[in-house]
Amino acid sequence: MARTFSFFLQLAACVFLLSACAATSRDSSHDDRGRGETSPGIIWVQTSAEYDAITLSVYRTAQDALAEKIADKTWSALPYQTHAENLPTAIILDVDETVVSNVEFQRSFIPPFSDGKLDAWNRANRAVPVNGVVEFAERARQLGVTLFFLTNRPCAATGDDPCPQKTTTLQDINEAGIAVDAEFVMLSGERAEWGKEKSVRRDYVAENYRVIMLMGDDLGDFIACTRKNPLHPCTEGATIASREAATLEHQDYWGNGWYILPNPMHGSWTSVK
Ligand SMILES: [Mg+2]
Repeated sequence: MARTFSFFLQLAACVFLLSACAATSRDSSHDDRGRGETSPGIIWVQTSAEYDAITLSVYRTAQDALAEKIADKTWSALPYQTHAENLPTAIILDVDETVVSNVEFQRSFIPPFSDGKLDAWNRANRAVPVNGVVEFAERARQLGVTLFFLTNRPCAATGDDPCPQKTTTLQDINEAGIAVDAEFVMLSGERAEWGKEKSVRRDYVAENYRVIMLMGDDLGDFIACTRKNPLHPCTEGATIASREAATLEHQDYWGNGWYILPNPMHGSWTSVK
């Protein structure tokens, strides 16, 4: 109980920090980036021990819940998933700022942001894991859970390769210390129907697995239709109010199947009004 209380205290501190950073970031011209070289969010992620403490707390809390979520065959982290009792278990993780930390890129790239710049940086630099994720992944696999990595890094075909970014992403996850094969990594645009709205790929995983946990740093890693500009199959754009309402509507899942990492640097939160 003490550990749980401490976790939520840290979570509250994190939410406060995110709010403080939002004031300086919501005027970003990029849809999903609220960055800047001197952004307090970037400095906080890069230098604060508090960031490490929170990420360790999040992954420890999730790790401690693994056995219970595996044993309870009626449980799914997808509110709409039913009749999954006989399916094998899976966990869906986001990649950037959930499995690998790109804070060095955030600090050093020359604006404006582009996916190409991030991909080039990732190819040139060894991936750094977010604290706690490697141990969590190892324990989950020991218990027989399959891990899926869903990222909105987009595929951009080059020559004969329809998605060179997939190679980069696989390499990053492996470099971070989690061995993974291509079939468990799903990029935006890798299939025609896989746009940046992640709920479509979550549904794909749920066809064959009981999804026991979601791990991410953006509301879109958990809830559909959280972006300012709606993406298929969403028909309405999100607002600050609609995102907060959706978050509270799902309050039973936070820290209970849904585990969110702090990211005051960028995300779908930066563009909504
Ligand atoms: Mg992310």
